[in-house]
Amino acid sequence: MRILLILLLLTAAPVLAQTPADAGGEVTSTDQAVDVEPGLADTRIAERIAQILDATGWYSDASVRVDDSIAFLDGTTTTTERKTWARDLAAKTTGVVAVVNRIEVEQAVELIAAMPATLDQARAEAETCSRCDLCAPRRMVWGEGPTDASLMIVGEAPGDHEDQQARPFVGPAGQLLRAAMAEAGCPPAYLTNAVKHFKFRQRGKQRLHQSPTRGEIDHCRWWLDQERRLIRPRLTVALGASAAFALTGRRAALTSRRGTLEPAIRGGDVLITWHPAAILRARSRGAEMRAELAADLSRAAGLAKERMGAQGVRGATSL
Ligand code: SF4
Repeated sequence: MRILLILLLLTAAPVLAQTPADAGGEVTSTDQAVDVEPGLADTRIAERIAQILDATGWYSDASVRVDDSIAFLDGTTTTTERKTWARDLAAKTTGVVAVVNRIEVEQAVELIAAMPATLDQARAEAETCSRCDLCAPRRMVWGEGPTDASLMIVGEAPGDHEDQQARPFVGPAGQLLRAAMAEAGCPPAYLTNAVKHFKFRQRGKQRLHQSPTRGEIDHCRWWLDQERRLIRPRLTVALGASAAFALTGRRAALTSRRGTLEPAIRGGDVLITWHPAAILRARSRGAEMRAELAADLSRAAGLAKERMGAQGVRGATSL
């Protein structure tokens, strides 16, 4: 209902009743431009943006000021996505040429209290997770590696081999990854997946891998966030599009992003590269993609080492 109201505010009458504040809900894109009658004064534009922010119920003490077509946003919210949403909303409003986003992200006290204190506790809690439909009877496959690893490598989800052994990256794709890591001189890394349960469809006796949906990745991001928060790697590597989405919130095609660093939703940055399973599936380009994976891992190892030396203390990732 709230989303419907926001859509109405984005598209329809200039003055609408407000909905009660509510901190829940999914952050959706603000692709649609917000029309304001041409020539309106800055104050009216500010009112329009403030009205929409208020309707979401996501912002506390929100205030909007527009001076010479520059929008200044203040207030607090609970996630980076919501902060970004407010900026995008203002930027797409007619009459706004620039946005100064001063909204602060403050995590809800109850959310912080719900966070596991240790990696072992997080893993134990994930064993009974039912945030999405991929839970039992499959086995939960938690990450593996040094708990103070400077490098974290994130894949999509466990496959058949991983489900059977309850360990990440033990099938053919995992073997390819481990060989490429050795070749690249990677330090001991923490290996995990964006989604912790195997998704498949049954064909005869075979369990055919299926990619998790966006919703499943969103649900499971809680656990990936806990792993990153507790391990605090200097650098995280995303293998493939699902891991890249889980870590950055962006779903753009991988081809143009491979080999680049992008900011992670929860702080730190992410080096994006191929998933080894995609390399195994690729025919004519397989050798080239494998070389690119090794080159990316080599770069990741270098960056992690460099940051370890430069920082002396851990702290590349926040949550
Ligand atoms: S896939 Fe992730 S969110 Fe879904 S049940 Fe498993 S651990 Fe929970």
